[in-house]
Amino acid sequence: MIKKRIKYGCVCGILIMMIMGCLHIIKNKGVIKSGIDQTETASLNPVIYKTVVCLDAGHGGDDVGAEYNGRYEKDDDLAMTLAVKEELENLGVEVILTRSQDISMDNAPRAEYANLYDAALFVSIHRNYYDGYEAVNGIEAWINSQFLEEDEALATTILEEIKKAVPKSTIRGVKGGTIDGEGNYTINRVAQMPSCILELGFISSHYDNNLLDTYFSDYAKAIAQGIYAYTQTLSI
Ligand SMILES: [Zn+2]
Repeated sequence: MIKKRIKYGCVCGILIMMIMGCLHIIKNKGVIKSGIDQTETASLNPVIYKTVVCLDAGHGGDDVGAEYNGRYEKDDDLAMTLAVKEELENLGVEVILTRSQDISMDNAPRAEYANLYDAALFVSIHRNYYDGYEAVNGIEAWINSQFLEEDEALATTILEEIKKAVPKSTIRGVKGGTIDGEGNYTINRVAQMPSCILELGFISSHYDNNLLDTYFSDYAKAIAQGIYAYTQTLSI
């Protein structure tokens, strides 16, 4: 289970709560902060702090992402994101999504959404593409070019879990900045919490597509397990 920190205003408050059979759970930290300020009412309620994870399915709507033989990246991204969400919820983790349907979104609002909800971490799920050379394959994660320890730990943990779950996967490692060596991807630049962009294999690789389709649930479990393991290191 996720670590929780419980605050009680007073014993009377607890008794009242028990009698009424009412448990007031405020699910995200942004709301908790404003709740605590409302001293009269909020102090009577036990407030449970819970880790919130923001998952982001890349692309969507008109932006199909990479495309290969009629296969759209946006669909793979969303399917995996929804599967990871389910696995995380089975582990007791609260999950918010930037998109749960096939809709267009700019990248900055995705990270701003995570900021707004004070998510503990942000993972954006994508697939890679290499033009004209199908043999290029493997899974990698992109983080901010500053290689902050937390970002690197998050990305590394996810990749390690993937390698354990699907050993046939090629792990290309954790990379910082952007592929052209300038700046950072918007997600990693705007997100105010540890973040990474997971490139779950190359959609242009038959090998990677075959692995993804064959071991889909194993990948979902592994990504969730990596995120969960990382949340256990958070002191909230
Ligand atoms: Zn993408």
